Amino acid sequence: MNSFSQLQLAPNLAKAVAEMGYETMTPIQAQAIPVVLSGQDVMGAAQTGTGKTAAFSLPLLQRMLAHENTSTSPARHPVRALVLLPTRELADQVAQQIKLYAKYTQLRCAVVFGGMDMKPQTAELKRGVEVLVATPGRLLDHIEAKTAVLNQVDYVVLDEADRMLDIGFLPDLQRILSYLPKQRTTLLFSATFSPEIKRLASSYLQNPVTIEVARPNQTASTVTQLFFNINEDDKRRALKQILKQKEISQAFVFVNSKLGCARLARSLESDGLRTAALHGDKSQDERLKALEAFKKGEVDLLVCTDVAARGLDIKDVPAVFNFDVPFNAEDYIHRIGRTGRAGAEGIAVSFASASDLRLVSDIEKLTKQKIDFTVLDLDSERPPARRTREAEEDRPRRARLAPLAAPVDPFFDKPYEASTPSAEAEGGSAAVARDISTPVRSGISPNIKPKRTVAALFKTTS
Ligand code: AMP
Repeated sequence: MNSFSQLQLAPNLAKAVAEMGYETMTPIQAQAIPVVLSGQDVMGAAQTGTGKTAAFSLPLLQRMLAHENTSTSPARHPVRALVLLPTRELADQVAQQIKLYAKYTQLRCAVVFGGMDMKPQTAELKRGVEVLVATPGRLLDHIEAKTAVLNQVDYVVLDEADRMLDIGFLPDLQRILSYLPKQRTTLLFSATFSPEIKRLASSYLQNPVTIEVARPNQTASTVTQLFFNINEDDKRRALKQILKQKEISQAFVFVNSKLGCARLARSLESDGLRTAALHGDKSQDERLKALEAFKKGEVDLLVCTDVAARGLDIKDVPAVFNFDVPFNAEDYIHRIGRTGRAGAEGIAVSFASASDLRLVSDIEKLTKQKIDFTVLDLDSERPPARRTREAEEDRPRRARLAPLAAPVDPFFDKPYEASTPSAEAEGGSAAVARDISTPVRSGISPNIKPKRTVAALFKTTS
């Protein structure tokens, strides 16, 4: 039993944790908190939704309490912890959580991301903040404007690092990291440990402890996964039909492109469904409003792309639709992880057209499950313009179960390489801590300075 009470958290942190209703630590928390407290670097394979934010922020706050003070002087509140995230929504979400954990302390937390006026952010930074949560681009703006001074940073968290690299933030990250003191604690969290992530880790982390929480592909126990073979043209109709048949009140609808996202949201809206779109081209204000409307239940369908939706913590979403099968099987796990959270029942519906079978096969390999297609009898009403000869011949129209064709491309035929097979085999709650075994370069990176030994501030009692 990994109870929070076993951790000798400072009373003002323990009080906040108790107020949040947390009793038992999640696997990533049980593994990471003691390691971060001991001052070691961490390379964590865990996704949002696993309790990762508390896993890194509670021990960091605990360590920073040594510098807690009530002074109004900004100089007494330098940035000591920097948390970098790929998207504005994630940055906002993580900052909100850290503020809750720190609420009974004197430690200040601020968030900066693009798409918003810099002035209020600048004013907040000038007052002094100990924890700065940021997206890379906007942080660089503040660094250039000299409103973010990072020469006293002791702790850096690279959160959703794989996604940051996917988006192309590597040069920005390298620049930001070059402004930081080399002697520091660095924590890197990523859904996967790709060679790029390992390279990043070997350049900026010092003897990190790897903590891996099995991917939540075991969410299958609470998430019913359904796959339908649907023609591109019929997807919208199928979506509406399933919503009705299964009496789904709210859902995320994932698409693969920004353009497709905007187009689908518009057409669902014109069909009378309360819909909002969430994608990277939306202004920050629009994105926050869409999320808020969804959370309040004013919007039933949130049509989104992966980048915009990654890690959003919205409780009780009854269903997720993969209107498009994701290009990357990992994204399938992220997407369906939006439903069936915290033991609730969820349904994940995926529409695959004939050209998606290879992607479906990737999902089979990653999730280690056999995917069977369910047949959907599409209601016969069709828009008159689409009553083509082809459609007539097809009637009654059936989205036929297509047998999964064996992939022929050797690349796609390659078995999925889990980063630690043992962690996967042990099931959803298993977490493994071990020393990193795959340093990409030998010797110490010029970006790293050996740490002073840090005495653990407290130990867990068993
Ligand atoms: P995260 O992965 O940090 O985004 O956390 C996902 C959700 O789990 C958030 O709503 C947290 O408030 C919640 N959470 C984090 N840790 C715990 C815990 N130990 N017990 C219950 N809920 C938690």
